[in-house]
Amino acid sequence: MLIEKLKDIVGPAGWTADPVDLEPHLTEWRGLWRGTTALMVSPQTTDQVARIVAACSATGTAIVPQGGNTGLCGGAIPDESGDQVLLSLSRMSSIRALDAEDYSMVVEAGCILSDLQAAAAAAGRMFPLSLAAEGSCQIGGNLSTNAGGINVLRYGTARDQVLGLEVVLADGTIWDGLRSLRKDTAGYDLKQLFIGAEGTLGIITAATLKLYPAVQNVKTAFVAVPSAQSAVELLAALHQDLSDRLQAFELIPDRALRYVERHVPSASIPFDNGHPWYVLLESANAMDDETLERHLLRLLEASIASDAIVAKNAAEAAGLWHLRHSISEAQKKEGASLKHDVSVPVARIGEFIDAATSAVEQAAPGARVVAFGHVGDGNVHFNVSQPGDDPPHAFLAQRDAVASVVYDMVASFGGSISAEHGIGQGKREHLRFYRSETELDLMRTLKAALDPQHILNPGKVI
Ligand code: FAD
Repeated sequence: MLIEKLKDIVGPAGWTADPVDLEPHLTEWRGLWRGTTALMVSPQTTDQVARIVAACSATGTAIVPQGGNTGLCGGAIPDESGDQVLLSLSRMSSIRALDAEDYSMVVEAGCILSDLQAAAAAAGRMFPLSLAAEGSCQIGGNLSTNAGGINVLRYGTARDQVLGLEVVLADGTIWDGLRSLRKDTAGYDLKQLFIGAEGTLGIITAATLKLYPAVQNVKTAFVAVPSAQSAVELLAALHQDLSDRLQAFELIPDRALRYVERHVPSASIPFDNGHPWYVLLESANAMDDETLERHLLRLLEASIASDAIVAKNAAEAAGLWHLRHSISEAQKKEGASLKHDVSVPVARIGEFIDAATSAVEQAAPGARVVAFGHVGDGNVHFNVSQPGDDPPHAFLAQRDAVASVVYDMVASFGGSISAEHGIGQGKREHLRFYRSETELDLMRTLKAALDPQHILNPGKVI
């Protein structure tokens, strides 16, 4: 019987069917999706993953891969049938090799992102992928969702950090593509197929990642701006001034700061007077200590910025980042929220936020828009908090209607309905309205070719 076979493959420490142990693996971070399973297996080696997948393939049993379960669209949650095997990568957490001279490391899928940053730093290098969930998300999950985060402006998304992959395919075959080559034009770039595929095309078991020189002279500033569009002007000006020494640029609305003030006692708000919008930005490797200050002063004089604080030391900088990283947690405490992680052309972000806010406020009276995010990448977390003390379920019932308002607006700006987080279960039904039939057909063709039995994370993405 399949369950006994899977237990044998991973041994006694590698599986659980205990409802208490399973509980945190069956619900999405915000509790919006819940599933069930008869068994969660936690293999320790690629060979075990391959044998699990081969056994499931033989019986046509569905497998749901799970990393840190910090995904926000239900991608890592099994369905409610109880027939899907949950495959946790958590026990595959070794750094197989780190070569500082080659600026690369080979890591297993279950490595926690912050552990990889620390390992790179210990070797005098930097691994730039960074996001608020970095203490619990795993690199396999990051690659499967093509995670973004705060350093995309300078370093690109998770996709850009990968030199090679090791993947278990739908029939249990292991593809060893763990090369560390910077240049390789021998045929199709297969690794890119599995990045951002949310576990629907193969199970990532290891990756060769790029490392970068450690950055120096990091400067962090918190800048008040009169409007979201001024933030775009600030970005354009600083990008010209600092070039790729500008490495992060995050837009924060005053409403988000007030949420943090209310719910996160460890956070302190830098400005006494409320401004409508703020930007948290970071520069690195400037030759002259005063460079960022000088440029900001000029932009204050030009009224593009209204006020600015530059952190005097690492502790102050960490305090400013703490504010930014606390927004999701604080918003959770304000009640139910509808999240739309979208992108539009950078230059039109201010215009988009204004138009989408009006449209949502009209469609869902009393709803509170909290639009923040990685403006340097054209990416807005266009989140909507429930009105005051209303019951959450009444607000959540408007999920599809509000999403259609936001996504129609995104489409009219030439944007994408998913800039981070992926499609999962949450956006699957929307995807078909915002991608052409040709694109959808290509996606279906890939899925059918790589997973003909549809056993890898079925019901997600496509
Ligand atoms: P999971 O949630 O476990 O899984 C995500 C998807 O990948 C699922 O479809 C799963 O089946 C699949 N998967 C997981 N591991 C594998 C594997 N080894 N092989 C194949 N498929 C696999 N995301 C951003 O991009 N940028 C942000 O700034 C950001 N900020 C966040 C802040 C907070 C507070 C939270 C809670 C989340 C945030 N996220 C962000 C979303 C989330 O952290 C990312 O999507 C992250 O990459 C998911 O990693 P994970 O290990 O938790 O994956």
